[in-house]
Amino acid sequence: MAPNMRKLLIAANWKMYKTPAESTAFLTSFFPLIKKNEAAEVVLCPAMTSLPALVDAARGKSVAIGAQNMHWLNEGAYTGETSPTMLTAIGATHVLIGHSERRQYFNETDTTVNLKLKSALAHSLVPIVCVGEHLNEREQNLTADVLNLQVSVALEGIDPDALGTLVIAYEPVWAIGTGRTATPQIAEDAHKIIRARLAAIAGSHVADATRILYGGSVKPDNATNLCCLDDIDGALVGGASLDPDSFAQIIINATHRA
Ligand code: PEP
Repeated sequence: MAPNMRKLLIAANWKMYKTPAESTAFLTSFFPLIKKNEAAEVVLCPAMTSLPALVDAARGKSVAIGAQNMHWLNEGAYTGETSPTMLTAIGATHVLIGHSERRQYFNETDTTVNLKLKSALAHSLVPIVCVGEHLNEREQNLTADVLNLQVSVALEGIDPDALGTLVIAYEPVWAIGTGRTATPQIAEDAHKIIRARLAAIAGSHVADATRILYGGSVKPDNATNLCCLDDIDGALVGGASLDPDSFAQIIINATHRA
């Protein structure tokens, strides 16, 4: 598949920021700024408490709403958790899985990522699976090993035919929230490793169709260079997605390649 057959996807991860009122105020400012955008799919992942308000406010607009996390089970005695059926019931369509902050602070592992990925696919939620190496792993030349393991375990036991909506976000941990962005070449090389692994596990049709996003200090001024490369199919944006002007400018700049 030619690279430009994969539609760019630009996703916002708002982490633990914004009340429901702040989230809908963002949308009011944001929609007019991206009204000409057709080249990229746009997904906003707010805090759980803002999901219903954002789903309502985005109805009929070309912005999808996703969660930042979910449990893999439909229900149970798991205090504080949210299930896939709860997400689909309120109209969320996407879910981040295995973000490095979930791995670092909440003990998520490749095994729980695998359980969540299976569950998201079974519930027709578009999964955005986050992978990425730590700085010490990069310095020890272990990036390929880390990415190959993360992707392999995430996909274990999943029928390739079920992977039609899979999105992977390559987020080097050393670039998240640090202002230190991977160079386009570093990102492109990592994306090629991930795509090759996908091909080995699930076949080249899955590898060619899967969008691989880059995440890690994406800003308006680096979005064009990052998103113009063949294997980079969009961005997962944290800090710079909190401001409507900045996030809209990222979308405008990233879609310059389209
Ligand atoms: C993220 O949280 O996924 C992220 C990439 O954050 P930032 O853009 O702030 O580095």
